[in-house]
Amino acid sequence: MDFLKNADPEVFNILENELQRQTDHLEMIASENFTSPAVMEAMGSIFTNKYAEGYPGKRYYGGCEYADAVEELAIERAKKLFGCEYVNVQPHSGSQANQGVYLALLKPYDKILGMDLSHGGHLTHGAKVNASGKIYQSFFYGVNDEGWIDYDRVLDIAKIVRPKLIVCGASAYPRVIDFKKFREIADEVGALLMADIAHIAGLVAAGEHPSPFPYCDVVTTTTHKTLRGPRGGMIMTNDADIAKKINSAIFPGIQGGPLVHVIAAKAVGFGENLKPAWKEYAKQVRKNASTLATVLMNRGYNVVSGGTDNHLVLVSFLDKDFSGKDADEALGRAGITVNKNTVPGETRSPFVTSGIRIGSPALTARGMKEGEFELIANRIADVLDNIEDVNLQEKIKKEMVALARKFIIYDRPTF
Ligand code: PLP
Repeated sequence: MDFLKNADPEVFNILENELQRQTDHLEMIASENFTSPAVMEAMGSIFTNKYAEGYPGKRYYGGCEYADAVEELAIERAKKLFGCEYVNVQPHSGSQANQGVYLALLKPYDKILGMDLSHGGHLTHGAKVNASGKIYQSFFYGVNDEGWIDYDRVLDIAKIVRPKLIVCGASAYPRVIDFKKFREIADEVGALLMADIAHIAGLVAAGEHPSPFPYCDVVTTTTHKTLRGPRGGMIMTNDADIAKKINSAIFPGIQGGPLVHVIAAKAVGFGENLKPAWKEYAKQVRKNASTLATVLMNRGYNVVSGGTDNHLVLVSFLDKDFSGKDADEALGRAGITVNKNTVPGETRSPFVTSGIRIGSPALTARGMKEGEFELIANRIADVLDNIEDVNLQEKIKKEMVALARKFIIYDRPTF
């Protein structure tokens, strides 16, 4: 680490501050996590220097024998992890993975049906501000008033829309996604089915959420959320023809040279996901989220859908006189990082919202269990009960920093 310290103290200081921030705050953003130092070492490795356009064995550059080796290893591990036959590990992000699938399987103006952004879907599932909503004709399904996907309603919408592709998967849905039901709907209207498991991939890999295989034609994910790998994306399928189209769509369709250093880190991350300890982690992620939901409900808060099956809890403040933004800011002042989120029946703008999304993956990675989550959930409720009380927020912040420092994840600088 002395290289950076000596060469660029300005950047070094910023990284030190970020390390301190990550250490002292309780990170409860559902899409964030802590990678291992091994993942970070691979990401900061010598492969940063290498161009490797193409795929293993078919590159457009010389000197790719080790790039081939590491990409093949990442692919093999991902295949084993998710039980599928074809994997593309080159997407730079989850958004690029989704864009790659659309380019591979759709033509401009084809119809797609995805989950509404304000009901928990992702921008890339057809939102009008995203390329997916500009290039394709996008339509949406959502959740019912209680916050659950109503599959009969999805079928009704699908029958009217007749989409070429249905997207299932979400960014803020606390319940199990029934891939079999989505398959039945897709079959009934003759659509392709894509699952975006970005949020739940770590649980799927551990058997803590049902697998999208064999029901989905194609599956995308990020590698940095519940999977705890490097920031990046991945596409999986069991269909040789789709796999071929996807490879061409990613390169040369939407990307140039793959980030081989990130692919090396993906391989390391998948190696960690394949170890028996991973199942324990994923189980604990769910137990901790469930503890969070139970305490918040006992304290009188409206937890959307009445609980959680996965790693996140969605709390609605539609019955309160403060917004998601107010709650997000108040909790931030108390040392607890969450994010404001729209909720079913939303009345406020996406910049204000009437809810928050709270996740358990990052604190679980630090070793916290039900006892710590019970305490944190009570402190969250204390802050929300007294949302204007800045003195209380400061007092809780001290307690939360002390708690965070008992669960040190990086005991030396890893950046
Ligand atoms: N898909 C889902 C369901 C997501 O929640 C996200 C990110 O939040 C993405 C895709 C996009 O991933 P990225 O931020 O890597 O582009």
